[in-house]
Amino acid sequence: MAPLLLVEDLRTYYVGFGGTRVVKAVDGVSFSVEAGETFGLVGESGCGKTTTCHAIVRLLAPSARIVSGRIELEGEDLVPKSQGEMRRIRGRRIATILQDPMASLDPLFSIYDQVAEPAYYHQGLRGRSLRVRVKQLLDAVRIPSPELRMKDYPHQMSGGMRQRIVGAIAQAGGPRIIIADEPTTNLDVTIQLQYLNLLKDLQRATGVALIFVTHNLGIVAKMCDRVGVMYAGKIVEMQSVRGLFYRPRHPYTRALLDSIPKLGVREALCGIPGQPPDLADLPRGCSFHPRCPRAVDRCLDEEPKSHALNGDGSVRCWLPIGEPAANG
Ligand code: SF4
Repeated sequence: MAPLLLVEDLRTYYVGFGGTRVVKAVDGVSFSVEAGETFGLVGESGCGKTTTCHAIVRLLAPSARIVSGRIELEGEDLVPKSQGEMRRIRGRRIATILQDPMASLDPLFSIYDQVAEPAYYHQGLRGRSLRVRVKQLLDAVRIPSPELRMKDYPHQMSGGMRQRIVGAIAQAGGPRIIIADEPTTNLDVTIQLQYLNLLKDLQRATGVALIFVTHNLGIVAKMCDRVGVMYAGKIVEMQSVRGLFYRPRHPYTRALLDSIPKLGVREALCGIPGQPPDLADLPRGCSFHPRCPRAVDRCLDEEPKSHALNGDGSVRCWLPIGEPAANG
């Protein structure tokens, strides 16, 4: 059976300065998401996570182009769709939660108007049934006194409440999949935990699939079933969350895990040396080679292909940790 979402060899580039500067933000990304699953996309800032998500919902900046690849939602390719067709898909079949709720909420419209809109357009609800649905959605995201608060405006809500309202809006059209792009970045840590628990509860109640974008591996461990680790526009390792934490195969994944501070352990923090590469001027061979402690001559010349791991998942490395060296 086809997965709920299939992204195949997706390439999305930003083109600037009259075509002389091409930033390969997403460069051959492939993954799938099954119904009810949580798939994590993790990596440093600027590795292409957010552009991947924006390409899926076709909300790219004017300078960005999907150069090639397929994005199949329930077997239907979204890449050739017009923006008019995408407006009927966004909200109803696939929804997004962005990291800054103030950028998602319109300060001029009440909470009721903003939560009601997707239910009005995509579910066909009107009048009393629409009001009941808005109250249900606000209840589900634990907004106290929803009948009263639905008359309020975004500036009358706390940061945590605004982010929960964005979650209610994402649910309102009844989507099969929600892309949550660093939804807890602007929340303090205690509110973060509440929000993550809330998303899990909503997922259990509705069966919606989640793509969870984050650079926080603790959140990945809590939320995700499978994870793709992105570096320089590519997924360099994909595994179950358990496999990733217990048997990371790619040196970059290993380095990310080693850079997490450990409670109660007195040792120097272990950062990743160097900087992520300029996506408009990638190093030859493996993009990670200038920062990789395992790099060999081949890494400097030949770009590694993605190959399947024993068990599950894949890795893009000539010398994966704990695996035989890759051929071809
Ligand atoms: Fe390191 Fe080479 Fe693997 Fe790249 S291909 S991650 S440089 S060992």
